[in-house]
Amino acid sequence: MAHRNHTRGMINYSEGLCTSIMSDTTNVTQQEIKIKTRSVNLYYGSYHALGDITFDIPACAITAIIGPSGCGKSTLLRLFNRMNDLIPGVTIDGETLLNDVPIYGKDMDVVSLRQKVGMVFQKPNVFPMSIYENIIIGPKHHGVRGRRELMEIAEISLSKVALWDEVKDILTKPAQGLAMGQQQRLCIARALAVEPEVLLMDESCSALDPVSTMKIEELMQELSEKYTIIIVTHSMEQAARVSDMSAFMMIDENKIGRLHEYSETQEMFISPKDKLTEDYITGRFG
Ligand code: ADP
Repeated sequence: MAHRNHTRGMINYSEGLCTSIMSDTTNVTQQEIKIKTRSVNLYYGSYHALGDITFDIPACAITAIIGPSGCGKSTLLRLFNRMNDLIPGVTIDGETLLNDVPIYGKDMDVVSLRQKVGMVFQKPNVFPMSIYENIIIGPKHHGVRGRRELMEIAEISLSKVALWDEVKDILTKPAQGLAMGQQQRLCIARALAVEPEVLLMDESCSALDPVSTMKIEELMQELSEKYTIIIVTHSMEQAARVSDMSAFMMIDENKIGRLHEYSETQEMFISPKDKLTEDYITGRFG
């Protein structure tokens, strides 16, 4: 179960840090909202993939997007860093806001958006270069030049994912030589090195063994003190273990992906709103 829900209370986001303020209520409307979607529709050409998606994602919490294959989870996740822009024929209407600023607004600089909204994929996609270079590539791209500063960023980022002690003596070695779980933590460190506010994780544990999965899940929980984390997962156990909020998606009779239920994870797993949600989270389909 998402054991933290009832203790977290109201969460404030300021100067990149979250501080919890104890409160009697855990309602999402009481929390700082990081991302909002309002009546979002997304089409791949003529195919209507996302229908009328409206929800608020709280800052400094873990939100899990769940649902059967093909219901639009990855599409929804890619909405938040405009990764869908890279797919020809995609059209989007409605509003998606980060810190109340339209992500699809004319003035939005996509490079700076992707710095604020980092992404970690299903398989660790380390670059074919050294461990150190993997970490500093982002900061260098954003203009950091000093060797000392870059080394500091590497140490801080790798420490955040508990990888520093494991790799500090082999920083110049190829990243591809690391074990899969280490590579995935390196990818998370690389995303953190550019100081994002939001971390998108698309099935980021599904290629990992149980021990590495547990490490990443622990890491997600630690990171959610400071970062807004949105995960896509097929694992109901994982959603229940780590997330604060759960967004259950389903396709409707026209095969349009809809947000069927959105609530605190604890609430969804203890008392789902309807039979469809209950059937999905108890593994009766999907
Ligand atoms: P999920 O992550 O829940 O498995 P996706 O977001 O990957 O679902 O896909 C939702 C729907 O959109 C599916 O029917 C899928 O086939 C379709 N889709 C995904 N990516 C593309 C694309 N690049 N072009 C056309 N259709 C796509």
